[in-house]
Amino acid sequence: MTSNPAPDRTLRSAPRGPSPSDPPRAPRAPRIVVVGGGFVGLTLARRLERRLRRGEAEVVLVDASPSMTYQPFLAEVAGGRIEARHVAVPLRTTLRGTRVVTGRATAVNPDRRRLHLTLPDGTGTVLDYDELVLAPGSVSRMQPVPGLAEHAVGFTTLADAVRLRDAVLTRLALAADYADAERRRAALTFVVVGGGYTGVEAVAELQDLARATARRYPGLDVAELRVELVEAEGEVMPELPPALGAYTRARLADSGITVRLRTQVTSMVGGVVELSDGERFRADTVVWAAGVRGNPLLARTGLPVDPRGRLRTRATLQVDGAEHLWAAGDGAAVPDLAAARRPDDGAPMCGATAQHAVRQARVLARNLVATLRGGGLVEYRHRDAGSVAGLGSHRGVARIYGVRLRGLPAWLLHRVYHLAMMPTWGRRERIALDWAAALLGRRDLTAPDLVRGGLPTASRPDVRSEVPA
Ligand SMILES: Cc1cc2nc3c(=O)[nH]c(=O)nc-3n(C[C@H](O)[C@H](O)[C@H](O)COP(=O)(O)OP(=O)(O)OC[C@H]3O[C@@H](n4cnc5c(N)ncnc54)[C@H](O)[C@@H]3O)c2cc1C
Repeated sequence: MTSNPAPDRTLRSAPRGPSPSDPPRAPRAPRIVVVGGGFVGLTLARRLERRLRRGEAEVVLVDASPSMTYQPFLAEVAGGRIEARHVAVPLRTTLRGTRVVTGRATAVNPDRRRLHLTLPDGTGTVLDYDELVLAPGSVSRMQPVPGLAEHAVGFTTLADAVRLRDAVLTRLALAADYADAERRRAALTFVVVGGGYTGVEAVAELQDLARATARRYPGLDVAELRVELVEAEGEVMPELPPALGAYTRARLADSGITVRLRTQVTSMVGGVVELSDGERFRADTVVWAAGVRGNPLLARTGLPVDPRGRLRTRATLQVDGAEHLWAAGDGAAVPDLAAARRPDDGAPMCGATAQHAVRQARVLARNLVATLRGGGLVEYRHRDAGSVAGLGSHRGVARIYGVRLRGLPAWLLHRVYHLAMMPTWGRRERIALDWAAALLGRRDLTAPDLVRGGLPTASRPDVRSEVPA
């Protein structure tokens, strides 16, 4: 069977860079195309809707997904406290003055000012632009660990969070039926690799969910659960002061999590986790939360990228050495003008946080409008406000503008802060209702359908042979 190449359709043409065969075009307003409808893309589009005069420019937002994911809530989705749909903000209904295109950007032609994309039906198309913003975010930073790709699940997308919740519930359901002690131990062993805020929040929620479920399953004992957090550096969440790092480790240990510092996973072939401290054990669920790198699309553009695959970007958020190209968020290496310069390092760069992404988007909106009107550009400068992290039920850590909090106050602050940051009132209301239900003990612990759905992680032991007749 032969397959035809995907047809190429032009969504709409621009007045510059025409090929000789192009038909004549009517003049149109300048077009700003934004790749990525995450923290940067959604904030930017909303700002432009407010700042642009009618007919001053057309804004087109391209995202592979029809909704924006509020990633700071992924741990609570994995923990079953928040319904997955409630952390996804639909782009089309939220952005009424922006043209939203659901499609995956595949290449950029800066000379002709064209963006190539693939639509959900597989057809290829091109979109001409006057100004292009690249904000496709980041992906998990993988390492050459044997067995990693086959055995571990990432933790950056909504699908990852749902998969992790399903994996925990499935493994516990299977373990309750396993007759073989070794299989049972592997099913009840969970490893999270990476002790940044992503890994810490994920392991805390995973442990809470596993304990809450194990308590309800006859034939399972909470003491059988083994939950490990493996971190290569000497402290968890290094962005926090050491005292809060120590508090975090102590709270995780209290809840039964083993925290291993200065330890690396060296192999996970066949589901056997090997650590640099010599420990070796079977674990059916491994979560890889060991940092992020720029979306691979960025390196494919041929534009300058740093060693982490992020576009090298000036403080004005223009891509280095390129015209009509802008970048922000996790996929951009933006100089951090507010950070103290250390003598050993080069210029400090902004970290991959929603805090920077949202604020960069606001500066970007201002600079794009200034560009259209022939005004001057401003530089991005933001003093890090600090961080907040949830450590499971009623516990958290926070450092906000130098003030340190821990325990219940930090947990409350974490919730209030993220609820306030969550786009749209509709989503905030749904999340608040989910929290209320979880506080009343109504967390949904329904395991996915194993018979028809299969196992939610990469390793798939034969389910039927393990269930006693
Ligand atoms: C689990 C987790 C917890 C976090 N918690 C916090 C926190 O508590 N506080 C904090 O400040 N930060 C947190 N972060 C980091 C924060 O979420 C990111 O810094 C932020 O999302 C970056 O925004 P962005 O717009 O650059 O990327 P994103 O928000 O990831 O958006 C990128 C968008 O681009 C789209 N896209 C990707 N590729 C393409 C393509 N080829 N074509 C079209 N569209 C594409 C994606 O679908 C996505 O919608 C967390 C991250 C994770 C993973």
